[in-house]
Formats: sequence, structure tokens, C-alpha cells
Amino acid sequence: MKEIAESLKFFSEIGVTHLNLRKRSEATPARSLDDIRRELGDCTRCKLATTRTHIVFGSGSPDADLMFVGEAPGADEDVQGLPFVGRAGQLLTRIIEAIELKREDVYIANILKCRPPGNRNPEVDEVEMCHPFLMEQIRAVSPKVIVTLGKYASQTLLETDTPITRLRGSFHSLGEIQVMPTFHPSYLLRNPGAKREVWEDMKMVRDRLKALGSRYYA
Ligand code: URA
Repeated sequence: MKEIAESLKFFSEIGVTHLNLRKRSEATPARSLDDIRRELGDCTRCKLATTRTHIVFGSGSPDADLMFVGEAPGADEDVQGLPFVGRAGQLLTRIIEAIELKREDVYIANILKCRPPGNRNPEVDEVEMCHPFLMEQIRAVSPKVIVTLGKYASQTLLETDTPITRLRGSFHSLGEIQVMPTFHPSYLLRNPGAKREVWEDMKMVRDRLKALGSRYYA
């Protein structure tokens, strides 16, 4: 408080009569998903452009209260240009339905918008090129809650190297957005026993959305 009072006194002494105290994010309006997609264009910013079939931008409600962020498109997504349409995607749809929502109610995107060859792990330069577009999408949708699916999405969005086993099960902050990391549906296909933990995480997501007054549960 003392520093604020001192700053205000200083501004007043140098003749400043009006301060714009809005946060930067409020000062610059978010762009629409269509504008962000247009800017991405036929992207060649990283080497994945040479091996992909389609860019997988994201899909779902542009003003969703809940957003899911996965890792990168797989073979099915690369062919269709849509996120989570393969086996892992079918499981994700069931996870969404388990908290009484429909897939169209939420927004789904990935850390990478192009398929890494052979589904290898994302590489640093690829994540760096794609990240600003995902952050713009998050700003455009402005969800109340984001569920990050798996290690890559969780660690990238939360800028941490804490293992997913320690990240999951509690909320983290991304500005004003509540982030719940959980296991990736592909991991669940290989380890069905972990579905119990994902269900625990999703119940917390549902309860937090209710507490935040989401129109989903009105
Ligand atoms: N796995 C992901 O992380 N994203 C997809 O879109 C599909 C599978």
C-alpha cells in the first residue's frame, strides 16, 4: 500500500492526472478464433509442415466454459483436420459426457497443431512456434476451466517440469483460469486402472464449474 501511495504522489507531482489501471489483457481485446485461424494460414513456421496432411486448429464452442488441451494430432486427426477423433478421442468424448456435458459444449485444442511423424514427442522448437497461437485461442475462448491432458500439455501450459502424477488432482492457475491436469486418454487406453483418478479429477472440474456459476449447470 505504501508503495502505491508513493507512486500516486510521484505521478501527481509530475503532472499525471489520469492513470489507465486496466490490466493489459483487458486493454487489448482478444481476437476471434477465425482471425487467429486466418493468421495461422497454411503454416510453415516449423518442420512439421513438411509431413502433416492437415493443420488441426481446434474445435468446439467458441465461448466454452471448459476447454481441453491435448498434446498433438495423431494419424486420424491429421487426416480429418479435427482434434481427438481417433480412439483416444472417443474416450475423451465419454469423459466429457461423464460430467453431463456434450462435446459441442467444450472447446478442444492441442499444444501442437500438426502431427509429429510417427506420433513422436513434440520438440522444443515446434512447441515454441505453436504456443502463441494456443495462448490466443485460450484468450479468445476465455474458459473458466482448462483440463490439460497428459504430461506435455500440463507441463507446457503450466510452465513446469513437475511430473503429471504430482500435478493432477488439484487446480493450478493460468491467470484467472483454473487448470486441472489429468492423464491423457491414450494413457488410459493402455492403463484402464487410471480411469478412477481421471474420474476424481473430472468431478472436481464439474464442481468447480458449478461453483464458478457456469451456465452448463444452470
Ligand atoms: N492425442 C492428442 O493429444 N490430441 C489429439 O488431437 C489426438 C490424440
